[in-house]
Amino acid sequence: MVNLVESSGTVAGNPAAAGNAAVAELLTQPWIIETLRELAARHPGSLRRVAELRALDASSPIFWPFHAPPLPLCTAEAWGARIRDVDGNEFVDCHLGWGAQALHGHNPEPVVRAVREVLGRSTGNGYFPPVALEHMKLLAELLPHCEKFALFNSGTDATYAAIRLARAYTGRRLVAKVEGGLHGVHDLAMHNTAFWYHGHPMVDFPPAGPEGVAPVSPLAGVPAVDAQDLLVLPHCDELAWELVERHRHELACVIAEPVSSSFPFEEKSLPFVKGLAETCRRVRVPFILDEVLTGFRSGIHGMAVRYGIPADLITYGKVISALGLPLSAVGGRAALLDAAQTSGMSLADLGHKTCLNTTHLGNHLALVASHASLSLLRDQGEAYYDETRAKVAWLRGAVRRFGETHDIPIYLVGFGDFIGSFAFLADGPLRNVRDLARAINPIAMYVLTLLLRKRGVFTFSMPLLFTGGAHSREDLELVYDRLTDALLEMKRHRFPFVLAS
Ligand code: PMP
Repeated sequence: MVNLVESSGTVAGNPAAAGNAAVAELLTQPWIIETLRELAARHPGSLRRVAELRALDASSPIFWPFHAPPLPLCTAEAWGARIRDVDGNEFVDCHLGWGAQALHGHNPEPVVRAVREVLGRSTGNGYFPPVALEHMKLLAELLPHCEKFALFNSGTDATYAAIRLARAYTGRRLVAKVEGGLHGVHDLAMHNTAFWYHGHPMVDFPPAGPEGVAPVSPLAGVPAVDAQDLLVLPHCDELAWELVERHRHELACVIAEPVSSSFPFEEKSLPFVKGLAETCRRVRVPFILDEVLTGFRSGIHGMAVRYGIPADLITYGKVISALGLPLSAVGGRAALLDAAQTSGMSLADLGHKTCLNTTHLGNHLALVASHASLSLLRDQGEAYYDETRAKVAWLRGAVRRFGETHDIPIYLVGFGDFIGSFAFLADGPLRNVRDLARAINPIAMYVLTLLLRKRGVFTFSMPLLFTGGAHSREDLELVYDRLTDALLEMKRHRFPFVLAS
């Protein structure tokens, strides 16, 4: 078994270079080169376009640092849980636009129809179209724990806005986040975030002690924050609750996900986050629950209601939008949200109100699409969630049994209904993000991604599985068949599923 961790220590002073050497050794095995060749031969049209695009477009999802997919596809069409590339290859799509299309799949007919009806006569942005009021009423019905809402375009906007609102309300500056938390790409959010942005398990986590975790952003262009701005709390550790109590007079807010994609284990995360939220309530520090991923995806009211997590503000993104039209929201206590709403006298707003408005905020087409999509979900009601949970429980069990039978440490890990990934996990305790980062072999995940692609299962850059109404049970059975076939291929070639410790 190749020991990536050990070999990363062998190139003096440059663990990343050593890690790269070990990665190169694994990925230049003849059978992997052959797989890449075979895939490239199937995608001449994509390859040609990708090369041209690279020269012109830095921000396409296919060029996203840390998450770029192997041999990117140029995707021509999408319907339900299927996509087709420009070369005519068809795939079962488990990526579904980073989960944003997981509710009903790509291009659900009633949503497309609703948007078509307004196209050509809608006002564009910067107005109050009738759908805005209808949609607010629907949000209030689906999220009865929120008194008021504000709409934005992305999850990043929503968490940024929630922090700004909490700062405006409290007049304080310090924000606390949990190590490993993913809240988008604004500067504060990009500190101590998911381990894949930090290079783990190749690169060590920053120091942690009784004062919390040292704030770090390994990303170019993100200035190191001030201790007045950010307090990083240890993950799944009661010290986090104590730190909040200790800093209660400085804290503008604490932000946390109910369960994070950096640590997709509900049963371990929820008691910690609930304790954090309850501490905030007790010491009167606003708590922001980031439900960008879990909103409408853990029962219709989300995790705040399902698990009774008290929050002052809650952020929504992903499936609140539909057809990929950007929309996000902050919901919660009116007292905090009111900082974003005029007093009615513009001049009297100075010094009391904040500004979060942007030109395309609450996009008019996104509102129509979101309204149609969430109305469908409301009409499906509990049946939607029962069906999704049954499909996922079946797949999770089948994958585990297969792993046990073939001695492959493969799991379907994930949360809600359903946000997850196929993952190889080394033995050992999984108490927090650090343990998970150590247990994962990112190279094996990359190879599995390639092998799934070869078998017509599209998971973008890692073996993700976002699902919901998008996939039928038959779709997931097909994913299972292709997955198990891919795993047997890895086993035949003795690929290391986990890193030796
Ligand atoms: N919060 C959470 C919990 C997320 O997972 C993400 C996206 N991965 C964001 C915020 C940022 O959302 P967006 O990509 O729409 O900016």
